Amino acid sequence: MLKTYICRKKMNMINIVWLRRDLRLTDNTALQQALKSANKTAVLFIFDTNILDELDKDDARVTFIHQQLTKLDKELREMNSELLVKTGEPLQNWQELVNEFEIGEVHFNRDYEPYATERDDKVKRLLQKNNISVFSHKDQVIFEPHEVLKADGKPYTVFTPYKNKWLEHFNPQQIKVQENLKTDAFAAIDSSLPKLEEIGFQKSAIAVKDYDLSVVADYSKTRNFPALHGTSNLSVHLRFGTVSIREIVQQVYQQSPDFLSELVWREFFMQILFHFPRVVNENFRTKYNGIEWRNNEKEFERWCNGHTGYPIVDAGMRELNKTGYMHNRVRMITAGFLCKHLLIDWRWGEAYFAKKLLDFELSSNNGNWQWAAGTGCDAAPYFRVFNPTEQVKKFDKEMLYIKKWVPEFQDLNYPAPMVDHKMARNRALETYKRGIAD
Ligand code: FAD
Repeated sequence: MLKTYICRKKMNMINIVWLRRDLRLTDNTALQQALKSANKTAVLFIFDTNILDELDKDDARVTFIHQQLTKLDKELREMNSELLVKTGEPLQNWQELVNEFEIGEVHFNRDYEPYATERDDKVKRLLQKNNISVFSHKDQVIFEPHEVLKADGKPYTVFTPYKNKWLEHFNPQQIKVQENLKTDAFAAIDSSLPKLEEIGFQKSAIAVKDYDLSVVADYSKTRNFPALHGTSNLSVHLRFGTVSIREIVQQVYQQSPDFLSELVWREFFMQILFHFPRVVNENFRTKYNGIEWRNNEKEFERWCNGHTGYPIVDAGMRELNKTGYMHNRVRMITAGFLCKHLLIDWRWGEAYFAKKLLDFELSSNNGNWQWAAGTGCDAAPYFRVFNPTEQVKKFDKEMLYIKKWVPEFQDLNYPAPMVDHKMARNRALETYKRGIAD
């Protein structure tokens, strides 16, 4: 250990790029900036135990991250470098890195979630105390939370005006994708990527599918039908930054305004979370705080396992449990069913999705759950209660999606609906009315 430490300290000064949710070398702003300096650059990833300790040991997202890091390590080795990897508490890991290396500059791409901003502030202070220059960059969004604001400087809380302002600022000419990497500018370091088992995990049976932009041309027509291959599967790739948002926007903005609009929703919810971090635990609309959720644990379990007796709800939950993915239309139906039909607190459903979704993104998950519950900033009105049977008629008429995930839905042993729609709707309306403050 002491030997490695002395050897590394003797190395020339290096820059470090800290990858977090930007697991790629191409069109990575922090990396491009680090490579501009005269110092050689090392690429770092930290397995953050604050996050890992909360996860199941076969979490599919950890498997995906590990696969992606293996790929990056291979790419770096082809450029005479290696991925620098640490496991532990990031601040402590950074203290170790400061002791081990002569560091000139540290670069990372900004992350806007509450945990990340706090972590990054602490690391920044530590590095600056050690006279290391720290640079953070915009990378995972087209517009950051402070770049699209109302005329009075306040954040938007309604989507349509936010989107209009976003589009007003949007200049495709300014969306530059960096294609070339300076391949001789990486630092020759000696590190090794631990095996999944060495960080306490095992390979998941769930694999991440590639994204597919061929759906964009017909997106407006196909996006709402879960049995069709009509959406892109981009969310997980944007979540982990295995593709750059600039590259995607460049390819889609002329083809489909509807698709672009969905990408704007992503940034809308990111800026909501950034400006109103209280939404993590609270209703955005505080006047909804008086709703008396029934929170029946047995009913929650039936919803989680896909045994509600409503085939479209059960199909969605089974798809989620089996693949880590659920189609957006079905996410809306299952979430609405939990909040309105069962009157279970949206936070329970949000937490279940957070555990299961490959593309789990705090801002989008929270924003959409609050939308479904009616408690969010630009939410569905509380009296809009999806009728699961009508939703099937509109979006899965041939029942192809249902047949795939609930093949026994017409059998005698398939459960009867756990609540009657009409009764549940009326109960929801009364409960909401009673709970909403004037
Ligand atoms: P596409 O239809 O191909 O959309 C393209 C991209 O646009 C998506 O990849 C995503 O980045 C963005 N997008 C699309 N719809 C939305 C939306 N409603 N809100 C924000 N961004 C959107 N999305 C997540 O990325 N992470 C989550 O944790 C998440 N939780 C959700 C929870 C609920 C209750 C609901 C109703 C929606 C949630 N969504 C979440 C939004 C949406 O369902 C997924 O982004 C989408 O289904 C991902 O599939 P796709 O990439 O094929 O989407």
